[in-house]
Amino acid sequence: MTTIVVFVEHHSGQPVRASLECVGAARSAGGSVVAVVTGAGAENAAAALGKHGAGKVVCFGGAAQHSPDALARDCASVVKELGAKAFLAAATATGKDVAPRVAAVLDVTILSDITALASTGGGLAATRAWLGGKAIATLGSSGDVLVATTRPNVFAAQDTGGSAEVVKKNASTDGKAVVTAVEAKKAGKLDVKEAPVVVAGGRGLKAPENFALLEDLAAAFGNAATGASRAVVDAGWRPHGEQVGQTGKTVAPQLYVAVGISGAIQHLAGMRTSKVIVAINKDAEAPIFKVADYGIVGDALEVLPALTKAVKELKAHR
Ligand SMILES: Cc1cc2nc3c(=O)[nH]c(=O)nc-3n(C[C@H](O)[C@H](O)[C@H](O)COP(=O)(O)OP(=O)(O)OC[C@H]3O[C@@H](n4cnc5c(N)ncnc54)[C@H](O)[C@@H]3O)c2cc1C
Repeated sequence: MTTIVVFVEHHSGQPVRASLECVGAARSAGGSVVAVVTGAGAENAAAALGKHGAGKVVCFGGAAQHSPDALARDCASVVKELGAKAFLAAATATGKDVAPRVAAVLDVTILSDITALASTGGGLAATRAWLGGKAIATLGSSGDVLVATTRPNVFAAQDTGGSAEVVKKNASTDGKAVVTAVEAKKAGKLDVKEAPVVVAGGRGLKAPENFALLEDLAAAFGNAATGASRAVVDAGWRPHGEQVGQTGKTVAPQLYVAVGISGAIQHLAGMRTSKVIVAINKDAEAPIFKVADYGIVGDALEVLPALTKAVKELKAHR
C-alpha cells in the first residue's frame, strides 16, 4: 500500500479539522497514513488521529521552540525513511510554511491547494484549480514524492474508529528560523478559511459600521466566519485576514453568503468552489449571481436583518 505522510497541526493535542481532512485526503487516494505531530501535547493527538484513519503517528518532541525549517527536515526524514509516495499538509498558514520547505528538502515541486488526490496505479495525481478557478488541472509530481497542501473544507474527515501506533522521536533543534511567540487570535472568532459557513461583505454594505449586520448573521449561524471583498479591505473597513479572493484567502465552505459583493473575477477565484453560494445584491445583473445557487435581489441593509431573524427562528425550532 502507498504510504502517505501527513503533517498534523493541533491545539493542545486536539488535531485541527483541516488536518483531519488532510488525513481524509490521503485515505481517499488509498494511502496508508503516517501522521507527523510536533509540539506540546503532540502525543495526545494520537488517539484522534487513529480514529480518523492514521495507522501510525510520529511525535517529534524535545524542541523548546518551533522552527519551520528544522520541522521540514524532520518531516522529510520520515518521508525518506518510510519510502512514502506523498507528503501532505493542510493549506493553512502553518501548512503553507512547512510543505514548501519539505518539498525543497526533498528537491521536488509543491502542488498548492489541491482539491482531489487519486491513485493512478503507478503513482498519485492531484487536482487543483487554475486561472482563478476557470480551469481544473490534474498534476503529478516530477519527483519520487508528491508534496501538496490540501484546501480546507474540501476533503472529508472520516471517523474510521481505528487506532494508531505511536512512535516518539526527538525533534531537530538546529533551525535557522525560530518562532519565538505566538499570539492567540480573539477567542471565539473563526478563521474564514476553516469555517463551514462564511458570510462575506462588500462595498454594497455602504459603511464599515454596517458590517455589524453581517456579524449578527454570522453569530446567528453559530459556526460562521465573516469575510470581505478586497474593496472593503483596501478601504480599511475590514482586516486583511478576512479578504477572500485572488490576493486574499481561498475558501471552500459548505455555505458562502456574498452580501453586496459584485462578483469580480478576482473575488470568485477565492470562493467559487464553495458548496452552496448565496448572493444578496440590489443589482439583478451583478456577476455574482452567475455563480450563485440562490440569489436575493434587494438592499443588503434590509435583507440582512430579515435573514438573521429567519436563521434564529429556524435554530430555535430545531
Ligand atoms: C490584481 C488584483 C487582485 C485582486 N484581488 C482581489 C481579491 O483577492 N478579492 C477581492 O474581493 N477583490 C480583489 N480584487 C478587486 C476586484 O477586482 C474588485 O474590485 C472587488 O472585488 C470589488 O469589491 P466589491 O464587490 O465589494 O465592490 P463593487 O465592485 O463596488 O461591488 C459592490 C456591489 O454591491 C452592490 N450593492 C450596492 N449597494 C447595495 C445594497 N444596498 N444592497 C446590496 N447590494 C448592493 C452593487 O450592485 C455591486 O454589485 C483584485 C483586483 C486586482 C486587479
